[in-house]
Amino acid sequence: MSTIFSQIVAGDIPARVVYEDETTYAFLDANPLAPGHTLVIPKDEYERLDDVPDDVATDLYATIHRLVPAVEESVDADATTVAFNNGEAAGQEVPHVHCHIVPRFEGDGGGPIHAVAGDRPDLEDDELDDIAAEIESRA
Ligand code: AMP
Repeated sequence: MSTIFSQIVAGDIPARVVYEDETTYAFLDANPLAPGHTLVIPKDEYERLDDVPDDVATDLYATIHRLVPAVEESVDADATTVAFNNGEAAGQEVPHVHCHIVPRFEGDGGGPIHAVAGDRPDLEDDELDDIAAEIESRA
């Protein structure tokens, strides 16, 4: 069973497509958080960011890089929030990697990306050192 986004790429479900190349695709979000809210996806199905092969990740970033100014200029936005919900616990509902480009406007009542997480942890210096070392060893 393919994802709803694969069905959009296949042309089986209509969408307002704004960009397409060999490996990536972009269309307006059907339930926009702001005018111009755009989703950028790899055409092939990968559930999470770390499932995306390096070459496709490069293409995906190139498309995001291209579309951010296109979206901002099209709706005269002051800024954009550009983000992935990466995994169910982070709010990902469609299991097909997608980048949200959400136009932002001065005084739009929204918040920064810092508002998405729960209570902030109170971490000691040695815990921060350990976490940094764990990440560095895997990067
Ligand atoms: P997420 O919660 O990050 O998985 O976001 C999924 C996004 O896909 C939501 O913002 C939905 O509004 C959007 N969406 C779901 N179905 C469609 C569709 N058929 N066409 C365009 N956007 C869709």
